[in-house]
Amino acid sequence: MKTNTQQSKFRMKWHYLWRGMGFIQNKVPSLLPAVAFGALLKAFGPFITIYLTARIIDELFGARSVIHLAWLTGAAIVLNMIVYLLQKAMERIKDMGNFRLIYYGHFEMVDLILKTDYENVEKPEFHLKKQKIDEGSTLARRGIWKLPEITGQFIFNLCTVVFSITLAFPLFLTHSMQSSSFINSPWLSIILLGLILTSSIYSVLSNSQFSKWIFHKLDGMMAINRAFSFYGNLMQDHQLGKDIRIYQEQKLIGKAYDDFNRRGMKAFGSDVSKRQSHFWGISAAISSLISGFVYLFVGMKALVGLISIGSVVQYVGAISQFTTGFSELITSATDIWQDIDYVELYFNFLDTPNPKYQGSLPVEKRNDNEYEIEFRNVSFKYPGSETYALKNLSLKLKIGEHFAVVGRNGSGKTTFIKLLTRLYDPQEGEILLNGINIQKYDYIEYLRLFSVVFQDFKLFAFSAGQNVAADVHYDKERAMECLDKAGVGDRIRKMSKGLDTPLYKIDADGVEISGGEAQKIAIARALYKDAPFVILDEPTAALDPVAEFEVYSKFKEIASDKTAIYISHRLSSCRFCDHILVFDQGELIQNGSHDQLIQDINGQYYKLWNAQAQYYREDPRKSRLLG
Ligand code: ADP
Repeated sequence: MKTNTQQSKFRMKWHYLWRGMGFIQNKVPSLLPAVAFGALLKAFGPFITIYLTARIIDELFGARSVIHLAWLTGAAIVLNMIVYLLQKAMERIKDMGNFRLIYYGHFEMVDLILKTDYENVEKPEFHLKKQKIDEGSTLARRGIWKLPEITGQFIFNLCTVVFSITLAFPLFLTHSMQSSSFINSPWLSIILLGLILTSSIYSVLSNSQFSKWIFHKLDGMMAINRAFSFYGNLMQDHQLGKDIRIYQEQKLIGKAYDDFNRRGMKAFGSDVSKRQSHFWGISAAISSLISGFVYLFVGMKALVGLISIGSVVQYVGAISQFTTGFSELITSATDIWQDIDYVELYFNFLDTPNPKYQGSLPVEKRNDNEYEIEFRNVSFKYPGSETYALKNLSLKLKIGEHFAVVGRNGSGKTTFIKLLTRLYDPQEGEILLNGINIQKYDYIEYLRLFSVVFQDFKLFAFSAGQNVAADVHYDKERAMECLDKAGVGDRIRKMSKGLDTPLYKIDADGVEISGGEAQKIAIARALYKDAPFVILDEPTAALDPVAEFEVYSKFKEIASDKTAIYISHRLSSCRFCDHILVFDQGELIQNGSHDQLIQDINGQYYKLWNAQAQYYREDPRKSRLLG
């Protein structure tokens, strides 16, 4: 059973390795070939020097032909130069390629976050996945971005091992001429080979243990780092600047930041350097010992005339290249193996299912806006929640009618909008557009039907005009018209660059706007979209009473030929709607016009209305709103 799981884990690792390589090859086709060729050249360089130096020394101790020496020296210079230049060219391609890979790799994630089902965006585990990938890349230096580099190291070490074996191989052959000599005995070669291999294996094992230990440490560091960057970000967030100053929280935050820094240093810093020096110390001692044996063996062979003086350089050089190359080869293979875990995390994130995109039916384009939506016995619970946020809702939204949705906090008003706009799908019942379940429609096309101003709407640090049009290129005249309708046109005209003025202070000439102004711009954005359904979710929370009154009076005009849904706590502003839907604990408990609902003195609407009327009468200016 266990071996089966191990086997499938092994297969999965290969699967993700190939997928990762395929992804890199697809996004940046020049990268992997440059990595492989660059690694080959890098490994080849030292062997040119070792081999040609050996031949030059032989020539110096042998025939001493000037022409030969000139050829050998020339070859060494030219070959080294070619290898060097090619290697530099590969490095340039690699640097550019790695840069592009980081960009494309992140872009894929951002693209997913922007397009994935809204349901995913609201799940903390979705963001944790992304956070783990980010931290893997910054802190543990792992992930799909690292794959080319460590693959390059693997290829380099593999080539080093192959080249060094090729160059060192003749040393271990017995030489026929003096077969009786002890130095020429195959046993000595075998002992030396054994020593080299044992020391390489020791170094491989301790190296991989050390990497595992470091890896484990990094895992522990992630939590510290998360808190560390949280406090670091707090200091940069200008929005929090006010609270920090008023409550003099600098010391509190500074101390927390400092504590985490200390904990991080303690957990990682000194501990790691102690282990590191211990590890490197033992490795260096062993490798010096082996080098001593190699020098002795090779030197003695040269002394008795079994090999040339030049070959001493060749064999000693090749064997020392082999010992480091071999242990590094295993290290880089382990590195790749460990990196695959992060590559898997990356693809798991990209593979987040998006069931909303399964519909393919085009939404019929109708100039008459004859779109009718029906909720049929719809019930919904938020993922992980036991209670119904909406329960058995049945309702028809007839074309051109204006609906107000009222109810106490948490009664399900916003959830109703989220289901209508398919940010969530109901678990029970169905929602129909012109008689067809909305899940059958193409999601993007379905969303085109709605202009929504959410309670917690967001604008971006783009220009005012781009915010209104939600596009880079747009009709300036129409954008201004919408801003005028929303009552914020004059404010935009007065800005230094008008519609082109960037919002918020991220840009040097960006403009900070008030909450009320932002809300009006958000309303203008909804108008610009010109969708057949207009939804305003408590749109006046940030408006002063006069502006609020303006928005309400304009609403009829704004949404004149559209189906409009209006969520508000101000019952006075809902009076003009054709239907008032009263929600309570996720249920639609009343549905009718103001005049109808106010008759039912035991109904919720009557209670809500009276509670507010009392409150408003205390303020003569607001009481005008009651009309
Ligand atoms: P309203 O808009 O009427 O104030 P909502 O529709 O926002 O109410 O919320 C209805 C119920 O669903 C509330 O009990 C609320 O706590 C719960 N709820 C809202 N959003 C979520 C969410 N993302 N996850 C879990 N529960 C939620």
